Amino acid sequence: MQSVELVISGIDWLITVDRGRRILRDAAVAIDRGRIVAIGKSGEIAEGFAGARRVDGRHTVATPGLIDCHLHSSFQLSRGLADEANAQSFLFDRMYPYEAALDGEDVRVSATLAAAELLKHGVTCFIDPGNYQPEASVDGVMSTGIRYVASRSSFDLTKSVLGILPERMIESTALALDRAEAVLERYAKSSSPRLSASASFRGLNNASDELIVGLDKLARKYGTLLQTHACFSYSTHDSSVARAGLAEIERLEKLGVLDERMLIVHSGWLEPGEVAILAKRKPSLVCAPSSSLHNGYGNFMVGRLPELMALGVNVAVGSDHASSGIVDLPQEIRLACCCYKEARLNPRVMPPETGLEMATVNGAKAALMGERIGSIEVGKEADIVLFDTRRPEWQPLINPVANLVYSATGDSVRDVFVAGEQVVARGRLTRIDEDKLYEQIPLAVARFGKHLKLDKMVQLRWPVS
Ligand SMILES: [Zn+2]
Repeated sequence: MQSVELVISGIDWLITVDRGRRILRDAAVAIDRGRIVAIGKSGEIAEGFAGARRVDGRHTVATPGLIDCHLHSSFQLSRGLADEANAQSFLFDRMYPYEAALDGEDVRVSATLAAAELLKHGVTCFIDPGNYQPEASVDGVMSTGIRYVASRSSFDLTKSVLGILPERMIESTALALDRAEAVLERYAKSSSPRLSASASFRGLNNASDELIVGLDKLARKYGTLLQTHACFSYSTHDSSVARAGLAEIERLEKLGVLDERMLIVHSGWLEPGEVAILAKRKPSLVCAPSSSLHNGYGNFMVGRLPELMALGVNVAVGSDHASSGIVDLPQEIRLACCCYKEARLNPRVMPPETGLEMATVNGAKAALMGERIGSIEVGKEADIVLFDTRRPEWQPLINPVANLVYSATGDSVRDVFVAGEQVVARGRLTRIDEDKLYEQIPLAVARFGKHLKLDKMVQLRWPVS
Protein backbone atom coordinates (compact mmCIF):
# COMPACT_ATOMS: atom_id res chain seq x y z
CA MET A 1 0.00 0.00 0.00
CA GLN A 2 1.52 3.32 -1.13
CA SER A 3 0.80 6.45 0.91
CA VAL A 4 -0.14 9.47 -1.19
CA GLU A 5 -1.38 12.97 -0.44
CA LEU A 6 -4.77 12.73 -2.13
CA VAL A 7 -7.12 10.17 -3.63
CA ILE A 8 -10.21 11.28 -5.55
CA SER A 9 -12.43 8.21 -5.86
CA GLY A 10 -15.87 7.15 -6.99
CA ILE A 11 -15.81 9.49 -10.01
CA ASP A 12 -18.79 8.54 -12.18
CA TRP A 13 -17.11 9.44 -15.45
CA LEU A 14 -13.40 10.28 -15.75
CA ILE A 15 -12.68 11.87 -19.15
CA THR A 16 -8.90 11.55 -19.38
CA VAL A 17 -8.22 13.15 -22.81
CA ASP A 18 -5.10 10.93 -22.73
CA ARG A 19 -3.51 9.52 -25.90
CA GLY A 20 -6.19 6.81 -26.16
CA ARG A 21 -8.93 9.30 -25.19
CA ARG A 22 -10.09 6.83 -22.52
CA ILE A 23 -13.20 7.46 -20.44
CA LEU A 24 -13.32 5.48 -17.16
CA ARG A 25 -16.44 4.71 -15.11
CA ASP A 26 -16.31 4.52 -11.28
CA ALA A 27 -12.78 5.84 -11.43
CA ALA A 28 -10.18 7.11 -9.00
CA VAL A 29 -7.03 9.23 -9.24
CA ALA A 30 -4.12 9.02 -6.80
CA ILE A 31 -2.08 12.21 -6.45
CA ASP A 32 1.20 12.84 -4.69
CA ARG A 33 3.49 15.87 -4.62
CA GLY A 34 1.25 17.60 -7.15
CA ARG A 35 1.41 14.83 -9.75
CA ILE A 36 -0.88 12.03 -10.84
CA VAL A 37 0.63 8.73 -9.70
CA ALA A 38 -2.18 6.33 -10.63
CA ILE A 39 -5.53 6.20 -12.45
CA GLY A 40 -7.92 3.27 -12.39
CA LYS A 41 -11.14 1.81 -11.12
CA SER A 42 -11.98 2.98 -7.60
CA GLY A 43 -11.57 -0.55 -6.21
CA GLU A 44 -8.09 -1.00 -7.75
CA ILE A 45 -6.83 2.34 -6.50
CA ALA A 46 -8.23 1.65 -2.99
CA GLU A 47 -6.20 -1.58 -2.88
CA GLY A 48 -2.93 0.10 -3.85
CA PHE A 49 -3.04 3.65 -2.46
CA ALA A 50 -3.84 5.21 0.90
CA GLY A 51 -4.63 8.90 0.60
CA ALA A 52 -3.87 11.23 3.50
CA ARG A 53 -6.89 13.06 2.14
CA ARG A 54 -9.81 11.56 0.23
CA VAL A 55 -12.33 13.38 -1.96
CA ASP A 56 -15.61 11.71 -2.86
CA GLY A 57 -16.12 11.93 -6.63
CA ARG A 58 -19.59 10.37 -6.71
CA HIS A 59 -22.08 12.29 -8.85
CA THR A 60 -19.29 14.01 -10.78
CA VAL A 61 -17.72 14.05 -14.23
CA ALA A 62 -13.97 14.70 -14.07
CA THR A 63 -12.00 16.39 -16.81
CA PRO A 64 -8.47 17.75 -17.06
CA GLY A 65 -8.19 21.34 -15.86
CA LEU A 66 -9.34 23.56 -18.72
CA ILE A 67 -6.82 25.87 -20.39
CA ASP A 68 -7.91 29.32 -21.54
CA CYS A 69 -5.36 30.43 -24.11
CA HIS A 70 -6.52 34.02 -24.32
CA LEU A 71 -7.91 36.14 -21.52
CA HIS A 72 -7.10 39.80 -20.81
CA SER A 73 -6.99 39.82 -17.02
CA SER A 74 -6.90 43.62 -16.93
CA PHE A 75 -10.17 43.85 -18.91
CA GLN A 76 -12.24 42.09 -16.25
CA LEU A 77 -13.68 45.40 -15.00
CA SER A 78 -14.87 46.41 -18.47
CA ARG A 79 -18.21 44.55 -18.54
CA GLY A 80 -20.85 46.89 -19.92
CA LEU A 81 -18.32 49.43 -21.25
CA ALA A 82 -17.94 48.26 -24.83
CA ASP A 83 -21.19 46.88 -26.17
CA GLU A 84 -22.51 47.35 -29.70
CA ALA A 85 -19.15 48.59 -30.96
CA ASN A 86 -17.33 47.65 -34.15
CA ALA A 87 -13.64 46.73 -34.10
CA GLN A 88 -12.43 50.30 -34.48
CA SER A 89 -14.77 51.77 -31.88
CA PHE A 90 -14.34 48.83 -29.49
CA LEU A 91 -10.57 49.34 -29.37
CA PHE A 92 -10.05 53.06 -29.82
CA ASP A 93 -13.16 54.57 -28.19
CA ARG A 94 -13.62 52.05 -25.39
CA MET A 95 -10.95 49.53 -24.45
CA TYR A 96 -7.76 51.55 -24.97
CA PRO A 97 -9.11 54.57 -22.99
CA TYR A 98 -10.30 52.12 -20.28
CA GLU A 99 -6.89 50.47 -20.14
CA ALA A 100 -5.07 53.82 -20.01
CA ALA A 101 -7.25 54.85 -17.03
CA LEU A 102 -6.31 51.87 -14.81
CA ASP A 103 -3.88 52.29 -11.93
CA GLY A 104 -1.90 49.41 -10.44
CA GLU A 105 -4.53 48.62 -7.81
CA ASP A 106 -7.27 48.53 -10.46
CA VAL A 107 -5.19 46.08 -12.50
CA ARG A 108 -4.61 43.90 -9.43
CA VAL A 109 -8.32 43.81 -8.56
CA SER A 110 -9.26 43.13 -12.20
CA ALA A 111 -6.73 40.28 -12.47
CA THR A 112 -7.89 38.71 -9.21
CA LEU A 113 -11.51 38.81 -10.37
CA ALA A 114 -10.52 37.33 -13.74
CA ALA A 115 -8.67 34.43 -12.13
CA ALA A 116 -11.57 33.90 -9.71
CA GLU A 117 -14.09 33.62 -12.53
CA LEU A 118 -11.82 31.35 -14.56
CA LEU A 119 -11.18 28.96 -11.65
CA LYS A 120 -14.84 28.79 -10.66
CA HIS A 121 -15.59 27.80 -14.27
CA GLY A 122 -12.97 25.04 -14.35
CA VAL A 123 -9.98 26.82 -15.89
CA THR A 124 -6.71 25.88 -14.20
CA CYS A 125 -4.29 27.69 -16.54
CA PHE A 126 -4.58 30.80 -18.68
CA ILE A 127 -2.50 32.88 -21.05
CA ASP A 128 -2.73 36.65 -20.69
CA PRO A 129 -1.87 38.78 -23.74
CA GLY A 130 -0.58 41.31 -21.24
CA ASN A 131 -0.80 44.94 -20.31
CA TYR A 132 1.41 47.72 -19.00
CA GLN A 133 1.37 46.67 -15.35
CA PRO A 134 2.14 42.93 -15.40
CA GLU A 135 3.48 42.95 -11.83
CA ALA A 136 0.04 43.99 -10.56
CA SER A 137 -1.58 41.29 -12.71
CA VAL A 138 0.79 38.64 -11.33
CA ASP A 139 0.03 39.73 -7.75
CA GLY A 140 -3.72 39.41 -8.28
CA VAL A 141 -3.75 36.25 -10.36
CA MET A 142 -1.27 34.25 -8.31
CA SER A 143 -3.20 34.90 -5.09
CA THR A 144 -5.88 32.50 -6.36
CA GLY A 145 -3.73 29.41 -7.08
CA ILE A 146 -4.32 29.26 -10.86
CA ARG A 147 -1.52 28.66 -13.40
CA TYR A 148 -0.63 31.80 -15.28
CA VAL A 149 1.33 32.81 -18.37
CA ALA A 150 1.97 36.53 -17.78
CA SER A 151 3.02 39.04 -20.43
CA ARG A 152 3.92 42.63 -20.91
CA SER A 153 2.47 43.74 -24.21
CA SER A 154 3.36 46.91 -26.03
CA PHE A 155 2.74 49.19 -28.95
CA ASP A 156 5.36 51.33 -30.69
CA LEU A 157 3.27 52.88 -33.47
CA THR A 158 0.81 55.57 -32.41
CA LYS A 159 -1.35 55.57 -35.50
CA SER A 160 -2.86 52.92 -37.66
CA VAL A 161 -5.65 53.16 -40.21
CA LEU A 162 -7.97 52.21 -37.34
CA GLY A 163 -7.13 55.12 -35.05
CA ILE A 164 -4.75 56.86 -32.64
CA LEU A 165 -3.70 55.27 -29.36
CA PRO A 166 -3.81 57.14 -26.03
CA GLU A 167 -0.50 58.94 -25.33
CA ARG A 168 0.06 56.87 -22.18
CA MET A 169 0.17 53.61 -24.15
CA ILE A 170 2.91 54.51 -26.64
CA GLU A 171 6.55 53.57 -26.10
CA SER A 172 9.67 53.71 -28.22
CA THR A 173 10.70 50.36 -29.71
CA ALA A 174 13.82 50.20 -27.51
CA LEU A 175 11.89 50.93 -24.32
CA ALA A 176 9.16 48.42 -25.18
CA LEU A 177 11.78 45.70 -25.75
CA ASP A 178 13.68 46.57 -22.55
CA ARG A 179 10.50 46.39 -20.50
CA ALA A 180 9.39 43.14 -22.16
CA GLU A 181 12.76 41.59 -21.36
CA ALA A 182 12.58 42.71 -17.73
CA VAL A 183 9.28 40.83 -17.37
CA LEU A 184 10.67 37.71 -19.06
CA GLU A 185 13.75 37.89 -16.81
CA ARG A 186 11.53 38.03 -13.75
CA TYR A 187 8.81 35.51 -14.60
CA ALA A 188 9.88 33.21 -17.48
CA LYS A 189 12.04 31.08 -15.21
CA SER A 190 10.05 31.75 -12.07
CA SER A 191 10.60 29.55 -9.03
CA SER A 192 6.83 28.96 -8.95
CA PRO A 193 5.87 26.15 -11.35
CA ARG A 194 2.48 27.82 -11.75
CA LEU A 195 3.91 31.08 -13.12
CA SER A 196 5.57 31.65 -16.47
CA ALA A 197 5.74 34.42 -19.05
CA SER A 198 5.58 35.08 -22.77
CA ALA A 199 6.58 37.76 -25.25
CA SER A 200 3.59 39.64 -26.65
CA PHE A 201 2.67 42.35 -29.10
CA ARG A 202 -0.97 43.29 -29.01
CA GLY A 203 -1.59 43.41 -32.74
CA LEU A 204 0.23 43.97 -36.01
CA ASN A 205 -1.16 47.34 -36.95
CA ASN A 206 0.44 49.25 -34.07
CA ALA A 207 3.71 47.27 -34.03
CA SER A 208 6.79 48.02 -36.11
CA ASP A 209 8.81 45.30 -37.82
CA GLU A 210 11.63 46.03 -35.35
CA LEU A 211 9.36 45.45 -32.36
CA ILE A 212 7.99 42.16 -33.72
CA VAL A 213 11.43 40.81 -34.64
CA GLY A 214 12.88 42.00 -31.32
CA LEU A 215 10.14 40.27 -29.30
CA ASP A 216 10.64 37.10 -31.34
CA LYS A 217 14.34 37.14 -30.40
CA LEU A 218 13.42 37.56 -26.74
CA ALA A 219 10.91 34.68 -26.93
CA ARG A 220 13.65 32.43 -28.35
CA LYS A 221 16.20 33.58 -25.77
CA TYR A 222 13.86 32.81 -22.84
CA GLY A 223 12.26 29.72 -24.42
CA THR A 224 8.75 31.18 -24.28
CA LEU A 225 5.92 31.62 -26.70
CA LEU A 226 5.39 34.77 -28.77
CA GLN A 227 1.79 35.88 -29.01
CA THR A 228 -0.35 38.41 -30.83
CA HIS A 229 -3.87 39.13 -32.04
CA ALA A 230 -4.27 38.90 -35.82
CA CYS A 231 -6.93 38.71 -38.53
CA PHE A 232 -9.92 39.22 -36.24
CA SER A 233 -11.96 41.51 -38.46
CA TYR A 234 -12.03 42.80 -41.98
CA SER A 235 -10.66 46.11 -40.67
CA THR A 236 -7.48 44.60 -39.14
CA HIS A 237 -6.83 42.84 -42.45
CA ASP A 238 -7.54 46.00 -44.42
CA SER A 239 -5.40 48.17 -42.16
CA SER A 240 -2.44 45.82 -42.58
CA VAL A 241 -2.74 45.77 -46.36
CA ALA A 242 -3.07 49.57 -46.47
CA ARG A 243 -0.02 50.18 -44.27
CA ALA A 244 2.36 47.33 -45.09
CA GLY A 245 1.13 46.12 -48.47
CA LEU A 246 0.73 42.68 -46.89
CA ALA A 247 -2.02 40.88 -45.02
CA GLU A 248 -1.18 40.11 -41.38
CA ILE A 249 -0.01 36.48 -41.71
CA GLU A 250 1.93 37.37 -44.87
CA ARG A 251 3.74 40.05 -42.90
CA LEU A 252 4.62 37.65 -40.06
CA GLU A 253 5.93 35.18 -42.65
CA LYS A 254 8.08 37.87 -44.28
CA LEU A 255 9.52 38.77 -40.87
CA GLY A 256 10.44 35.11 -40.29
CA VAL A 257 8.77 34.81 -36.87
CA LEU A 258 6.17 32.12 -37.58
CA ASP A 259 6.73 28.69 -36.07
CA GLU A 260 5.21 26.34 -33.49
CA ARG A 261 6.19 28.63 -30.61
CA MET A 262 3.91 31.36 -31.86
CA LEU A 263 0.35 31.85 -30.60
CA ILE A 264 -2.01 33.76 -32.88
CA VAL A 265 -5.36 34.80 -31.49
CA HIS A 266 -8.47 34.84 -33.77
CA SER A 267 -7.01 34.12 -37.24
CA GLY A 268 -10.42 34.46 -38.83
CA TRP A 269 -9.93 36.77 -41.80
CA LEU A 270 -7.41 34.90 -43.89
CA GLU A 271 -6.52 35.13 -47.54
CA PRO A 272 -6.00 31.77 -49.31
CA GLY A 273 -2.22 32.23 -49.26
CA GLU A 274 -2.31 32.85 -45.52
CA VAL A 275 -4.08 29.52 -44.94
CA ALA A 276 -1.17 27.86 -46.78
CA ILE A 277 1.40 29.74 -44.66
CA LEU A 278 -0.29 28.69 -41.40
CA ALA A 279 -0.50 25.06 -42.55
CA LYS A 280 3.24 25.15 -43.32
CA ARG A 281 4.54 26.99 -40.23
CA LYS A 282 2.04 25.57 -37.74
CA PRO A 283 1.77 28.25 -35.09
CA SER A 284 -0.96 27.57 -32.52
CA LEU A 285 -4.20 29.45 -33.18
CA VAL A 286 -6.82 30.53 -30.66
CA CYS A 287 -10.54 30.52 -31.42
CA ALA A 288 -12.25 33.24 -29.35
CA PRO A 289 -15.96 32.75 -30.02
CA SER A 290 -17.75 35.14 -27.66
CA SER A 291 -15.68 38.19 -28.57
CA SER A 292 -16.32 37.69 -32.28
CA LEU A 293 -20.04 37.06 -31.74
CA HIS A 294 -20.47 39.99 -29.35
CA ASN A 295 -18.98 42.49 -31.77
CA GLY A 296 -20.06 40.86 -35.03
CA TYR A 297 -16.51 40.36 -36.37
CA GLY A 298 -17.46 37.49 -38.69
CA ASN A 299 -14.81 34.98 -37.60
CA PHE A 300 -17.25 32.06 -37.94
CA MET A 301 -18.65 33.25 -41.25
CA VAL A 302 -15.24 33.49 -42.91
CA GLY A 303 -13.01 31.47 -40.53
CA ARG A 304 -11.12 28.36 -41.61
CA LEU A 305 -10.20 26.84 -38.26
CA PRO A 306 -11.80 23.39 -38.91
CA GLU A 307 -9.84 23.12 -42.17
CA LEU A 308 -6.63 24.34 -40.49
CA MET A 309 -7.08 21.66 -37.80
CA ALA A 310 -7.47 19.06 -40.55
CA LEU A 311 -4.19 20.36 -41.99
CA GLY A 312 -2.44 19.66 -38.67
CA VAL A 313 -2.56 23.14 -37.13
CA ASN A 314 -3.10 23.22 -33.36
CA VAL A 315 -6.23 25.21 -32.43
CA ALA A 316 -7.00 26.15 -28.83
CA VAL A 317 -9.75 28.32 -27.35
CA GLY A 318 -9.94 31.56 -25.37
CA SER A 319 -12.64 33.63 -23.70
CA ASP A 320 -10.82 36.90 -24.56
CA HIS A 321 -12.38 39.39 -22.18
CA ALA A 322 -15.27 40.16 -19.88
CA SER A 323 -16.35 43.06 -22.11
CA SER A 324 -17.93 40.50 -24.44
CA GLY A 325 -19.88 38.97 -21.57
CA ILE A 326 -18.86 35.46 -20.60
CA VAL A 327 -15.57 34.25 -19.14
CA ASP A 328 -16.64 30.63 -19.20
CA LEU A 329 -14.70 28.11 -21.26
CA PRO A 330 -17.42 25.41 -21.35
CA GLN A 331 -19.69 28.01 -22.95
CA GLU A 332 -16.91 29.07 -25.35
CA ILE A 333 -16.41 25.55 -26.67
CA ARG A 334 -20.15 25.14 -27.16
CA LEU A 335 -20.15 28.36 -29.18
CA ALA A 336 -17.14 27.22 -31.23
CA CYS A 337 -18.73 23.88 -32.11
CA CYS A 338 -22.23 25.19 -32.76
CA CYS A 339 -21.29 28.34 -34.66
CA TYR A 340 -19.15 26.40 -37.12
CA LYS A 341 -22.01 23.91 -37.62
CA GLU A 342 -24.39 26.78 -38.34
CA ALA A 343 -22.01 28.70 -40.58
CA ARG A 344 -21.21 25.58 -42.63
CA LEU A 345 -24.72 24.06 -42.59
CA ASN A 346 -22.92 20.90 -41.44
CA PRO A 347 -23.47 19.19 -38.05
CA ARG A 348 -20.29 17.11 -38.46
CA VAL A 349 -17.85 19.99 -38.82
CA MET A 350 -16.88 20.29 -35.14
CA PRO A 351 -18.02 17.55 -32.72
CA PRO A 352 -17.94 18.10 -28.93
CA GLU A 353 -14.84 15.93 -28.54
CA THR A 354 -12.97 18.48 -30.68
CA GLY A 355 -14.26 21.28 -28.46
CA LEU A 356 -12.96 19.54 -25.33
CA GLU A 357 -9.59 18.85 -26.99
CA MET A 358 -9.28 22.55 -27.83
CA ALA A 359 -9.76 23.42 -24.15
CA THR A 360 -7.35 20.75 -22.82
CA VAL A 361 -4.58 19.05 -24.83
CA ASN A 362 -4.54 21.65 -27.60
CA GLY A 363 -4.40 24.45 -25.03
CA ALA A 364 -1.51 22.76 -23.23
CA LYS A 365 0.40 22.45 -26.49
CA ALA A 366 -0.28 26.11 -27.34
CA ALA A 367 1.04 27.12 -23.90
CA LEU A 368 4.18 25.00 -24.52
CA MET A 369 3.15 22.85 -21.54
CA GLY A 370 1.99 19.74 -23.39
CA GLU A 371 4.25 17.45 -21.35
CA ARG A 372 3.00 18.81 -18.02
CA ILE A 373 -0.76 19.45 -18.23
CA GLY A 374 -3.81 19.10 -20.50
CA SER A 375 -4.78 15.49 -19.76
CA ILE A 376 -5.28 13.16 -16.81
CA GLU A 377 -2.31 10.82 -17.20
CA VAL A 378 0.21 9.30 -14.82
CA GLY A 379 3.21 11.64 -14.48
CA LYS A 380 1.34 14.81 -15.38
CA GLU A 381 0.64 17.58 -12.88
CA ALA A 382 -2.69 17.05 -11.16
CA ASP A 383 -4.94 19.74 -12.67
CA ILE A 384 -8.43 18.25 -12.43
CA VAL A 385 -12.01 19.57 -12.51
CA LEU A 386 -15.05 17.82 -11.03
CA PHE A 387 -18.40 18.85 -12.52
CA ASP A 388 -21.46 18.33 -10.33
CA THR A 389 -23.90 16.14 -12.25
CA ARG A 390 -26.74 16.47 -9.75
CA ARG A 391 -28.05 19.41 -11.70
CA PRO A 392 -30.81 19.46 -14.32
CA GLU A 393 -28.53 20.40 -17.21
CA TRP A 394 -26.39 17.31 -16.64
CA GLN A 395 -29.35 14.89 -16.76
CA PRO A 396 -29.83 12.38 -18.21
CA LEU A 397 -26.16 11.50 -18.36
CA ILE A 398 -25.65 9.21 -21.36
CA ASN A 399 -22.74 10.93 -23.15
CA PRO A 400 -20.70 13.07 -20.72
CA VAL A 401 -18.73 14.86 -23.47
CA ALA A 402 -21.96 15.93 -25.18
CA ASN A 403 -23.48 17.07 -21.86
CA LEU A 404 -20.34 19.04 -20.99
CA VAL A 405 -20.13 20.85 -24.32
CA TYR A 406 -23.78 21.22 -25.29
CA SER A 407 -25.65 21.44 -21.99
CA ALA A 408 -23.44 22.47 -19.09
CA THR A 409 -21.81 25.77 -18.26
CA GLY A 410 -18.93 26.51 -15.93
CA ASP A 411 -21.48 27.11 -13.18
CA SER A 412 -21.68 23.36 -12.63
CA VAL A 413 -18.02 23.14 -11.57
CA ARG A 414 -17.90 21.70 -8.04
CA ASP A 415 -14.20 21.20 -7.23
CA VAL A 416 -10.98 22.29 -8.91
CA PHE A 417 -7.44 21.05 -8.25
CA VAL A 418 -4.25 22.71 -9.48
CA ALA A 419 -1.11 20.59 -8.99
CA GLY A 420 -3.13 18.55 -6.50
CA GLU A 421 -4.12 21.58 -4.41
CA GLN A 422 -7.86 22.10 -4.08
CA VAL A 423 -8.42 25.72 -5.14
CA VAL A 424 -12.22 25.48 -5.56
CA ALA A 425 -14.28 23.46 -3.07
CA ARG A 426 -18.05 23.13 -3.52
CA GLY A 427 -17.99 26.10 -5.89
CA ARG A 428 -16.06 28.48 -3.61
CA LEU A 429 -12.46 29.61 -3.90
CA THR A 430 -10.25 28.25 -1.13
CA ARG A 431 -7.38 30.74 -1.19
CA ILE A 432 -9.12 34.09 -1.24
CA ASP A 433 -12.14 35.66 0.42
CA GLU A 434 -14.62 36.14 -2.45
CA ASP A 435 -16.85 38.51 -0.49
CA LYS A 436 -13.93 40.86 0.18
CA LEU A 437 -13.01 40.74 -3.51
CA TYR A 438 -16.54 41.75 -4.55
CA GLU A 439 -16.36 44.72 -2.16
CA GLN A 440 -13.25 45.98 -3.97
CA ILE A 441 -14.88 46.07 -7.43
CA PRO A 442 -17.02 49.24 -7.09
CA LEU A 443 -14.08 51.07 -5.49
CA ALA A 444 -11.90 50.26 -8.52
CA VAL A 445 -14.69 51.26 -10.94
CA ALA A 446 -15.05 54.59 -9.13
CA ARG A 447 -11.26 55.18 -9.40
CA PHE A 448 -10.79 54.50 -13.11
CA GLY A 449 -14.29 55.79 -13.95
CA LYS A 450 -13.21 59.35 -12.99
CA HIS A 451 -10.84 59.41 -15.98
CA LEU A 452 -13.37 58.04 -18.44
CA LYS A 453 -16.53 60.11 -17.86
CA LEU A 454 -18.40 56.84 -17.55
CA ASP A 455 -21.85 58.46 -17.61
CA LYS A 456 -21.16 59.75 -21.14
CA MET A 457 -19.35 56.61 -22.27
CA VAL A 458 -22.16 54.26 -21.27
CA GLN A 459 -25.68 55.55 -21.70
CA LEU A 460 -28.35 53.06 -20.74
CA ARG A 461 -31.17 52.91 -23.28
CA TRP A 462 -33.80 52.43 -20.62
CA PRO A 463 -34.49 54.97 -17.87
CA VAL A 464 -33.02 54.42 -14.41
CA SER A 465 -34.50 56.10 -11.37
ZN1 LIG B 1 -7.87 39.70 -27.03
